Amino acid sequence: MSSLSENIKHFEQLLEGTSSKLVAVSKTKPASMLQEAYDLGIRIFGENKVQELTEKYELLPKDIEWHMIGHLQSNKVKYIAPFVSLIHGVDSFKLLKEINKRAVQNNRVISCLFQMHIAKEESKFGLSEEELMDMLQSEAFKNLSNVKMKGLMGMATYTENEDIIRNEFKSLKTLFEKVKSTFSADNLDFTEISMGMSGDFKIALEEGSTMIRVGSAIFGARN
Ligand SMILES: *Cc1c(COP(=O)(O)O)cnc(C)c1O
Repeated sequence: MSSLSENIKHFEQLLEGTSSKLVAVSKTKPASMLQEAYDLGIRIFGENKVQELTEKYELLPKDIEWHMIGHLQSNKVKYIAPFVSLIHGVDSFKLLKEINKRAVQNNRVISCLFQMHIAKEESKFGLSEEELMDMLQSEAFKNLSNVKMKGLMGMATYTENEDIIRNEFKSLKTLFEKVKSTFSADNLDFTEISMGMSGDFKIALEEGSTMIRVGSAIFGARN
């Protein structure tokens, strides 16, 4: 059995000398465990539920970067808008407009990623390439003054077949490059590709991930 400190050291070494970042996915884990990880040097935590995120934000040190990695409902944006560092799961224009509105109210600019549907599975959230292009071309998008779109996020199919996973990550990287070279707007600053989890972070890093979102390989299995 490996300990939290050994797991964290493993990822630190893996990412050393690269520009890729680790998002420690702490969902379902108690605040005491996050504090332990914080004491071991972790500063970026990912959560997927708004209530859990806000509760942990209240309890833990204020220099933590909190990433919302899960599906976000528009009516809950207001609870995280004051403090969230990055929202990975922007999968509709409606949601993005709401994030912008709440960012204005809080006098902040909120960084976000577009979540793309890259997996074969029906169940995964995310935009199609066509939906993304429509959004980026619209005047309404360019007028969103208080969001900063930092890149793309995607989840690969849950499978043992590495070729499928690799091809899905490749397609996300290709789309990232396409958007970066095609569009320019004040609220567009494409630098991040959030891809890779405990089961597929190695492939994701090989395919250009700048942010891996790792939960169980750091904190242990969830119940
Ligand atoms: C839970 C979760 C992760 C981390 O999953 P692990 O397999 O435990 O590493 C990454 N991304 C998202 C969106 C998640 O919901």
